[in-house]
Amino acid sequence: MKIGFIGLGVMGKNMAENILENGYELNVYDVVEELVEQFARKGASVCKSPSEVASKSDVIMTSLPNSQIVKNVILGKNGVLQGAKSDAIIIDLSSITPKTIQYIAKEAEKSGVEVVDAPVSGGSIGAKNGTLTIMAGGKKEVVDSVSDILKSIGKTIYYVGSVGSGDTVKLVNNLLLGANMAAVSEALVLGIKAGMDPDILFQVISKSSGNSYALTSKYEKFIKERNFNPGFMVDLQYKDLQLAIDTAKDLKIPLVIGNLTQQLYEMARSEGMGKEDISALVKVYEKWL
Ligand code: NAD
Repeated sequence: MKIGFIGLGVMGKNMAENILENGYELNVYDVVEELVEQFARKGASVCKSPSEVASKSDVIMTSLPNSQIVKNVILGKNGVLQGAKSDAIIIDLSSITPKTIQYIAKEAEKSGVEVVDAPVSGGSIGAKNGTLTIMAGGKKEVVDSVSDILKSIGKTIYYVGSVGSGDTVKLVNNLLLGANMAAVSEALVLGIKAGMDPDILFQVISKSSGNSYALTSKYEKFIKERNFNPGFMVDLQYKDLQLAIDTAKDLKIPLVIGNLTQQLYEMARSEGMGKEDISALVKVYEKWL
């Protein structure tokens, strides 16, 4: 089977490498030429546009920054749909709004092209090791037909429902991650200001009801070490909170914690921490100590 891969950034590069290593023929495209050239040296076929990728591939995978770019790359001029074979399958691995991928799927259906939204969790390390969690939405039989490809980039693959469901689960997950990280930052700084040793706070809370993934994954390796290299970037967390906020607005659902949380990440961005790990939020609180 021939696979196309568009978007060879932090996540895409690693996922595309795993696809190559699993023996698939690979056609690649990115707007950054250097990224594409690296793949030429690894045996992938280099393409000049998303439509060229699609014309040479049975399955086209995209890992792109945001909803608008995914829409342009698939539906726009020289986009995937212009070159796609009539029975092609598009798998979008980006984190975007459910509404966007559902619109793309409707447009693609007119040309007989199926769409699966399969956002991922596990960061660049999970992408490198092929251990990502993948939440896939689309027609069940279509998702089943690409399960071997998904297994080449992820370890735990969930079928979560019709197209858009993957992005919905992802934005709910990342709303929780963002809010939990903000709560961990606020609570730790309170405990320290009140005179506690942060290690004691961590030891007790990581075995108590206040525990969370944000605490266990971010305390020792990031906050304690004062190492704020991502990890998961503040800018991406901010974007994912926006996905939740936009979706909540469409559904007329109040998102009190989500909106407040996004403001905290906005403060981190205004302090120049956009490219740092989300645990850098603790530094925003420390300034108020
Ligand atoms: P990235 O910015 O590193 O990579 C995106 C790539 O897309 C870049 O190489 C860029 O050059 C390319 N690109 C941009 N516009 C393009 C276009 N028009 N045509 C072709 N290529 C184009 O981002 P990333 O961290 O790899 O994230 C990709 C997606 O995965 C995002 O939606 C992100 O939210 C999601 N995600 C990221 C992480 C993470 O930890 N980085 C984790 C889970 C999910």
